[in-house]
Amino acid sequence: MLNYAKRFRVEEGSKVKLDEIDPSYKGEHKNKAAAQGELEKHAQRLAELQYLMYAENKRSLLIILQALDAAGKDGTINHVLACMNPQGARVYGFKVPSAEEQAHDFLWRIHSAAPRKGYVAVFNRSHYEDVLVVRVHNLVPKEVWSKRFEEINAFEKQLVDNGTHILKFYLHIDQEEQLARFKQRIDDPNRHWKISEADYKEREYWNDYQKAYEDAISKCSTKHAPWYIIPSNHKWFRNLAVSQIIVDTLESLNMKFPAPTVNIEDIKKKYHAASEEEKKGK
Ligand code: AMP
Ligand code: MG
Repeated sequence: MLNYAKRFRVEEGSKVKLDEIDPSYKGEHKNKAAAQGELEKHAQRLAELQYLMYAENKRSLLIILQALDAAGKDGTINHVLACMNPQGARVYGFKVPSAEEQAHDFLWRIHSAAPRKGYVAVFNRSHYEDVLVVRVHNLVPKEVWSKRFEEINAFEKQLVDNGTHILKFYLHIDQEEQLARFKQRIDDPNRHWKISEADYKEREYWNDYQKAYEDAISKCSTKHAPWYIIPSNHKWFRNLAVSQIIVDTLESLNMKFPAPTVNIEDIKKKYHAASEEEKKGK
């Protein structure tokens, strides 16, 4: 099995060129059917590890998803989270900031959604929008957004020092694949609700977005909070790579179930006595 965490991780200090990365890459697998076994294995292991994280109640996991429209943020969330227990997992989508959010610093709304101990949080878009859409559309001056890379690194470091593990995924597709997915949305009445005028407007800024992403990923891929660039033209491969990276990360934490808070031998005696009583009553 290829080590996707190693393969797709952006090393700290390296300079990313997105057009040098093949979005149709699919590893050693021919197709979805060939990857199905591995996908199911990851899903099962992910469920076990998330349960362990919740039980341990010591640290947390933050998964950040960023991508252009139709690249598969929603699909990844659906796939990756479907196997988790909702009691310990949360999803947050970040849209255009509300008036109240805009009245605060850009990390305010993000910080309040950071996962508490034992929890997994998934961000559908994130503070990275503040150096992406904000930059592409000149929503704030360059002097403001250009300082944010360092502010983001410091913020993420603070979360990590506090017991949060951070994984950041950029879902990489090409323009052709985006257009094909826009067409699927038109052809399927159940997906019409997903279509927005903005999709087509933003597509015109494709190159600006690629450049903004290259900068953000290059400047903010750190040892403590790495970026992973996931080839995502094939949805099944995207799911396989993302789930493998999450599983590997959680495995590496060596989490343990907490020691019982009770004396199990005493509890067994109590159970025995209670079941004797129950029998007598019948
Ligand atoms: P969607 O994810 O398709 O529901 O769209 C959410 C929209 O909110 C996208 O167009 C984002 O670019 C936009 N958005 C998210 N965060 C910000 C932000 N900080 N500033 C401006 N626009 C944002
Ligand atoms: Mg959209």
